[in-house]
Amino acid sequence: MKSYLSSRTEQIKPSGIRRFFDLANSLEGVISLGVGEPDFITPWSICHASIQSIERGYTTNTEIEGLIELRKEISYYMGNRFQVSYSPDTEIIVTVGGSQALDSSLRAIINSGDEVMIVEPSYVAYEALVAMAGGKPVPIVTTFENEFKPQPEQIIQSISSRTKAIILCFPNNPTGSLLKKQELEALAEIIVKHDLLVITDEIYAELTYEEDTFCSIASIEGMRDRTILVSGFSKAFAMTGWRLGYICAPEWLTQPIVKVLQHATISAPSITQYGAIEALRNGQRYIIEMRNSYRERRNFLVNQLNKMGLHCHLPEGAFYVFPSVRQTGLTSEQFAEKLLIQHKVAVVPGSAFGNSGEGHIRCSYATSMEKLHEAMERMGQFLENL
Ligand code: PLP
Repeated sequence: MKSYLSSRTEQIKPSGIRRFFDLANSLEGVISLGVGEPDFITPWSICHASIQSIERGYTTNTEIEGLIELRKEISYYMGNRFQVSYSPDTEIIVTVGGSQALDSSLRAIINSGDEVMIVEPSYVAYEALVAMAGGKPVPIVTTFENEFKPQPEQIIQSISSRTKAIILCFPNNPTGSLLKKQELEALAEIIVKHDLLVITDEIYAELTYEEDTFCSIASIEGMRDRTILVSGFSKAFAMTGWRLGYICAPEWLTQPIVKVLQHATISAPSITQYGAIEALRNGQRYIIEMRNSYRERRNFLVNQLNKMGLHCHLPEGAFYVFPSVRQTGLTSEQFAEKLLIQHKVAVVPGSAFGNSGEGHIRCSYATSMEKLHEAMERMGQFLENL
């Protein structure tokens, strides 16, 4: 029967994260540092706006690009918060999560065999999405020693006549690293010189822990016209289950993406779009509160892990720490599996994020301080017993 299946989907590897979730779910009393979802519940005023939209009967499809009121709010927010300017009429599209923003963007630009550079260790979906769109993923390997930041010379060496684009994700999942303006400028120079496109996944842009460190590559000279900026509501506003994301890009790029979306989904859900309008209008205070909690948890976790000898950098953004487990002599899979089975703490093996993630584990601090304390105690015992 295999001959009936698409060879493109056949070659996609199962997510290394899912396997651990399934194992963790089959055990009692597990503390999970595995999930990439905020532990906060969506703030009430956002839920209320959404409930009101149902009560008022706003339950039909919206424009393919999303409600114009929401696109206007996104336009204002992106300009005000990140100094990038996009027209709500032609340069913003609301999607079903950041996930669909990535998928539809890649489908719109990739021809069969086009190469797309992916900074590794990377969010698990990029490689699969590039392959499903018919492209060839080309990893740009980063390491602990260079703080998981891609070096310009690596990018130059990886460019071929088939290279179409590069996917960037800063603040990064899984490493938490962040590229500063000057570092982005160095990459932008290469990107312009080689006439490439950029897909910049900025879904963690609100989650940086020092003031004014985030910079969007779209704001750098020469980049706006060749950049697809992907973002969403999942992480910043604790709205993962609402499935809402968006794309900001010049019209020559949004037009083909809209073509993909009109057949793929017609529109993002109307009800959640009304909630998102409220999130952007009045939600900054929630972001500040959640960010403060994440910062406190990050500091605690990094301190504890380093004390245990699991060395890690202080991540500048997102809600992940990516410590090295090399000194234990275990592979990242062995480490994660033993820790889960013996001490009931779930983390994700670094190998789930590409070969270059090997030797590390991803610990998410999107969980309460109380659970983090308990998890660190259990991990300490695990290391002593090793
Ligand atoms: N991009 C990154 C880097 C992520 O970590 C995630 C989710 O974990 C997504 C995109 C997908 O976000 P959404 O839930 O909005 O589809």
